[in-house]
Amino acid sequence: MANELLRLLPSIDLLLARPIAVKLSISLRHDRVRDLAREVTDQLRREIASGRWPDSSGSSEDVQADSAITAEIERRLEQSAERLVRRSLRRVVNATGVILHTNLGRAPLAQAAIDAIGDVTGSYSTLEYDLGAGERGHRESHCQELLARLVGSESAIVANNNAAAVMLVLNTLADGGEVIVSRGELIEIGGSFRIPDVMEKSGALIREVGTTNRTRIADYENAINDNTRLILRVHPSNYRITGFTERPSVDEIVGLSRRRGIPAYEDLGSGCLIDLASYGVSNEPVVSESLKAGISVVSFSGDKLLGGPQAGIIAGSQALIGRVGKNPLMRALRVDKMTYAALEATLRIYERGSAAVEVPVIRAIAAGQAEIHERAKRFTQDVVRVSGGRVKVTLEDGESVIGGGSAPEVSLGTVLAALQDSQMSAASLAEYLRMNVVPIITRTERDRVLIDLRTVAADEEAIILDAFAALARSSTNTGPSTEVKGRGLQA
Ligand SMILES: *Cc1c(COP(=O)(O)O)cnc(C)c1O
Repeated sequence: MANELLRLLPSIDLLLARPIAVKLSISLRHDRVRDLAREVTDQLRREIASGRWPDSSGSSEDVQADSAITAEIERRLEQSAERLVRRSLRRVVNATGVILHTNLGRAPLAQAAIDAIGDVTGSYSTLEYDLGAGERGHRESHCQELLARLVGSESAIVANNNAAAVMLVLNTLADGGEVIVSRGELIEIGGSFRIPDVMEKSGALIREVGTTNRTRIADYENAINDNTRLILRVHPSNYRITGFTERPSVDEIVGLSRRRGIPAYEDLGSGCLIDLASYGVSNEPVVSESLKAGISVVSFSGDKLLGGPQAGIIAGSQALIGRVGKNPLMRALRVDKMTYAALEATLRIYERGSAAVEVPVIRAIAAGQAEIHERAKRFTQDVVRVSGGRVKVTLEDGESVIGGGSAPEVSLGTVLAALQDSQMSAASLAEYLRMNVVPIITRTERDRVLIDLRTVAADEEAIILDAFAALARSSTNTGPSTEVKGRGLQA
């Protein structure tokens, strides 16, 4: 039978004249389509020769006709072409309930920020142009006043991310000198960002004081010498030392800094611009409070609790920020117009006081358990309906987390939709959802797929429901569940 089938394989020229090839030529170069047609045909030839195609699930009458073979080749051709033209960086639906998921791009941007990026990047812009004077301006000027107003500093400057900000501050203020830091704050943030390593690269010498769990202000004071340039305080973002612990307050650090005339720098990590305590997120320092207390310079991320683009923001006195701005490293660590556009638009949302409505990260944190419960109830009914009863869903109380190295001890009460498919394991269902046209990322636990709507935008529920509708169609059309496993069948 194999020989008969091999004779039915269409020629490449015949394939290229088919409508499918013409369609693919719109998004791929013609010679690329030809190469693909060859690859796909060769592959099928090998499978037929070795008896791997057709597999046992297809009846042999089905494939006796050359139309069946051509259809199979066309199906594979379309799949290969789709893989080729698909972008590598793609949107996903984050159904994990981890609000700042570093692997999923941390903060989704506010609509105003997305609009600003589109507006500013599709044409020329005032990136380094002073409209009033009609001459060269400074890119640093864009968010400077706005940031300073929001955090209550004299000035501010923006770098590529907070790791770059740490590097810049230490190099500018302490290159060749000593920086005093508590042993309890020599942290690793993840993704190989270790405070001691960055400090070393900055040219500053680390002067560790105290112990892992207890450091007193006297430890800092005793370490000061002629070569001391900076007192560093680091927010231990992603872990907490509990029990027998001691750490000087911001006020004590500021007192020492003033007494001895040595600037104090606080790496705040998350960069909370507003107090989130009313939403159950306490212990995250608000940027303006550190500056109000008298810390000389602070830095924080743009895409953690602030909910903006990747950026590192440095705020402090005019004199210190001015020095940072003149550091030649600034040229290597500065940000692009896309970042300025998104950051400025995000900061303006804070200025008009509507972050809890407009900034997705803050909105997700502010969502109450009752609100999520209401959504989850409707969503659950919809899933059961579109999946034709194939998927069983229960609701249960659970916890969302902030993530992104912020507020590790905070968990926000949520309601989870726990899904079980009648034909697939939870791992297979999770894989099926991940392979969706718009990939859907979930948690799996005790052989159930868990969906936390806290991190799913209202208009993204339709994407999840479409995936379940396609699952239902695939089970009525093709039967065996192995067909579904691991292949984004829908669309
Ligand atoms: C997250 C974090 C950083 C790194 O910030 P990025 O913006 O990811 O570069 C540095 N310091 C602290 C304390 C952090 O929490």
